[in-house]
Amino acid sequence: MNVCEVFICLFHLVSAGRKLCDMFPCGKEEVDQAIQSAHTAYLKWSKMAGMERARVMLEAARIIRERRDNIAKLEVINNGKSITEARVDIDVSWQTLEYYAGIAGTLAGQHIQLPGGSFAYTRREALGVCVGIGAWNYPFQIACWKSAPALACGNAMVFKPSPFTAVTAVILAEIYKEAGVPDGLFNVVQGGAETGTLLCNHPGVAKVSFTGSVPTGKKIMEMSAKTVKQVTLELGGKSPLIIFKDCELENAVRGALMANFLTQGEVCCNGTRVYVQREIMPVFLEEVVKRTKAIRIGDPLLENTRMGALITRQHLDKVLGFVSQAKKEGAMVLCGGEAFTPIEPKLKGGYYMSPCVLDNCTDDMTCVKEEIFGPVMSVMPFDTEEEVLKRANNTTFGLASGVFTRDISRAHRVAENLQAGTCFINNYNISPVEVPFGGYKQSGFGKENGQVTIEYYSQLKTVVVEMGDVDDYFNC
Ligand code: NAD
Repeated sequence: MNVCEVFICLFHLVSAGRKLCDMFPCGKEEVDQAIQSAHTAYLKWSKMAGMERARVMLEAARIIRERRDNIAKLEVINNGKSITEARVDIDVSWQTLEYYAGIAGTLAGQHIQLPGGSFAYTRREALGVCVGIGAWNYPFQIACWKSAPALACGNAMVFKPSPFTAVTAVILAEIYKEAGVPDGLFNVVQGGAETGTLLCNHPGVAKVSFTGSVPTGKKIMEMSAKTVKQVTLELGGKSPLIIFKDCELENAVRGALMANFLTQGEVCCNGTRVYVQREIMPVFLEEVVKRTKAIRIGDPLLENTRMGALITRQHLDKVLGFVSQAKKEGAMVLCGGEAFTPIEPKLKGGYYMSPCVLDNCTDDMTCVKEEIFGPVMSVMPFDTEEEVLKRANNTTFGLASGVFTRDISRAHRVAENLQAGTCFINNYNISPVEVPFGGYKQSGFGKENGQVTIEYYSQLKTVVVEMGDVDDYFNC
């Protein structure tokens, strides 16, 4: 029985808020071992032709695709999200491996002609052992978003999943091994902040790619600075979604739901500050509330469930705390915002809550300023484009943004002026692997996905070749 089968046997524990398994945090010795064996694998892997690496990665993608349903079930158990969403995560994961396998064989430098027949060329080389540290909201997908470009460039990766979702990264490691990567090329270490600290401080690590909150991201950067490790930081957000009165209302309403309630609202780039042009505010709210009330919450393994359980009791309490605070500060709850107990007895004890729409919000409220990371949408009216842009940009975050309008000039003007790493026009939360993803401001830097990510997992060496004689400059 492999890890996947063992955990599928344990199914139904997580959606009921019970413990799945004990994973023991890795200490210094295990971290040293993981980095040492990754380094040995890197020496072998980085010398292989890109096309050879591509073949192994394509095989890993094929295995993930073949086991998609099992891995998706496991991700539901791991995280609590609906099976429909988990399947999408697994599809995105194998697509990521396929995409970067395609790029592995194309990695190349440049040839530069110099006077007298001399020339220079650049070589795109791997960095070495890269560390990936993941958040708990997209456990398998984050492991693939980080490892696929890393491996395509010839690096090894030591990956630490969140201790709340420790399981599926191990499945990925099994799959890479089965596909034929050298032993140790993708190692998983388990643990929380202490293990993460050991990884970030380790002198044998060339790069840290981190996905998580802003406060942890700052610590990662500080630790990495000690040995000048490269860092990619994919951090939190409080993204604006701007809905103009000339929008296609049906799409804007669907977009607002997509921007707030996927994965129980635990999505970094969610558009949780929803600015609606005043003239259409009543009709927008009526539609949004009607549909939010109709969202099916419950057993995440059922096909028609759209919202499962939040990650932990502590996180549920934190999200509910934001709703209480919003009420105290004058917001009005139009629907949801309460702990929810599904009727199925087997789900009793799970961390469910009803999706919440808040009206009467103002820009200075806590629910509008801080990342909630739960299913809570704050809606605010606006009058003019200039005003809404100023308000939308008035934040230290800059992960994503969105705009709904039929006016194409306005759409592109707003996209240009929003201070965020992504702007969705007339849709929200679409992240195909071909498209770069990453933040502005305190939401981080560096990109994941797209061709550009190759630059974050490789370095350029310049080789200068003299074809003539060395200049007798010192005349001696
Ligand atoms: P977190 O910062 O608490 O933890 C993230 C990871 O860092 C975990 O694996 C954790 O064990 C590890 N960690 C914690 N302290 C550490 C330390 N001192 N040194 C090294 N590692 C440490 O975040 P979380 O609660 O797991 O995830 C939620 C946050 O992640 C939200 O803010 C969300 O917006 C963000 N997020 C961002 C993206 C993105 O792509 N921008 C994607 C998903 C989640």
